[in-house]
Amino acid sequence: MPAVSLAQLLGQPDVSAFLRGIVGRGRYGNAYLFHGPAGVGKGTAAIAFARAALCDRVPGSAPSAPRDDGPSLFGDAPPAPVVADGDDACGECAACAKTAALGHPDLKFLFPVSGEEKVAEESVVEITQAWREDPLFTFQYEKAASVRLFQTRELQRELAYRPYEASRRVVIIRDCDRMREDQYSALLKSIEEPGATTLWVLTTSRASRVPVTIRSRCQRVRFAPLPESMIRAFLQERAEVPEANARMLAALSGGSLARALAMRGVDARAQRDAAMNLLAPALHGDARGLWAAAQGAMKYGRAGREELRRAIEFHQLLLRDLLRERYGSHPIDDEKRRVDLVHRDLAPQIREQAARLDATEIRRRLMVLEEALRSIDGNISGDLTLFSTLLRVAGERTGEGAWPGHATARWDY
Ligand SMILES: [Zn+2]
Repeated sequence: MPAVSLAQLLGQPDVSAFLRGIVGRGRYGNAYLFHGPAGVGKGTAAIAFARAALCDRVPGSAPSAPRDDGPSLFGDAPPAPVVADGDDACGECAACAKTAALGHPDLKFLFPVSGEEKVAEESVVEITQAWREDPLFTFQYEKAASVRLFQTRELQRELAYRPYEASRRVVIIRDCDRMREDQYSALLKSIEEPGATTLWVLTTSRASRVPVTIRSRCQRVRFAPLPESMIRAFLQERAEVPEANARMLAALSGGSLARALAMRGVDARAQRDAAMNLLAPALHGDARGLWAAAQGAMKYGRAGREELRRAIEFHQLLLRDLLRERYGSHPIDDEKRRVDLVHRDLAPQIREQAARLDATEIRRRLMVLEEALRSIDGNISGDLTLFSTLLRVAGERTGEGAWPGHATARWDY
């Protein structure tokens, strides 16, 4: 984890300014809900906010211990004044050193884990360790992962005590939509406690799943998707991903840096080529070959779904390139036009296809792919869905209806 500050938040200038305003004035609400798409820096912002709130050099963060009222009668030197004018973590004080290592006793961090309790407890330790050490760490959960009872119970016990070192305690609950009803009730009681010394920061990419009772008690802070160019630059500069790969991964990321980082080991070009090959039999009117390809591409389980999803997303990117090529703002032979393409290496094929397809047909295909992605998410079984999808993407306006009559089509399954 890089020791990030509010000033360094990537691509969220409004959020950064808003949170620094709070820190600078030293006036905190009880609870904040950071919401927006997954992987755009909500968790990082939560840590940066906590670091600022706990920093010794920002207003109101020092412990409220009794202070000397001035020089003594005997002329001793007055205590050094506390500098309290910052609106961000200074990065130099003792508190900042502790928060940077995730070791500040007044900073609590809860996140979803999966498995039986003992396994989950071990996961908490392992994940925290990996996160502390790996500057490019991203949280990835199993579908059933949740914030567990043992985590919230331990937190409740701690809340009974005053903060140890700072004037407040900061509790961050990551992906707070993954909790049980009784945990929300306990949380609600704590948030509403009068005179509380706890600052709550909850994050979610599925705000609608957080109970209204919780949402209404929080100040909401909205995060936006990150621009592709920013993700590409991050991959190249900070994660050492080669340019061509970074461009494709950034385009696939949907504005989520975490998603792009999780894919950084992927050879995007090889996967793209495999995805394009899936469609080849359909383009040649070979239904039997297409059926075999669809079955071959179907691997069940999570990994298979992910791969298939990516194959479909590559096709979406290609269609976007076709739109750019056909309707883009640069003249057709302009070098700049080529630079806009995600699949730059396929420029000749893209040009050739773009000449044959109009916007209506490209949009129709994009909609078919959208539908296919939804079926994958909805766990609708694979090979048939994929087969008919590929058919409809490859087909001209006629779509799948025209296929059974096709000369080479054989429906022998
Ligand atoms: Zn500091």
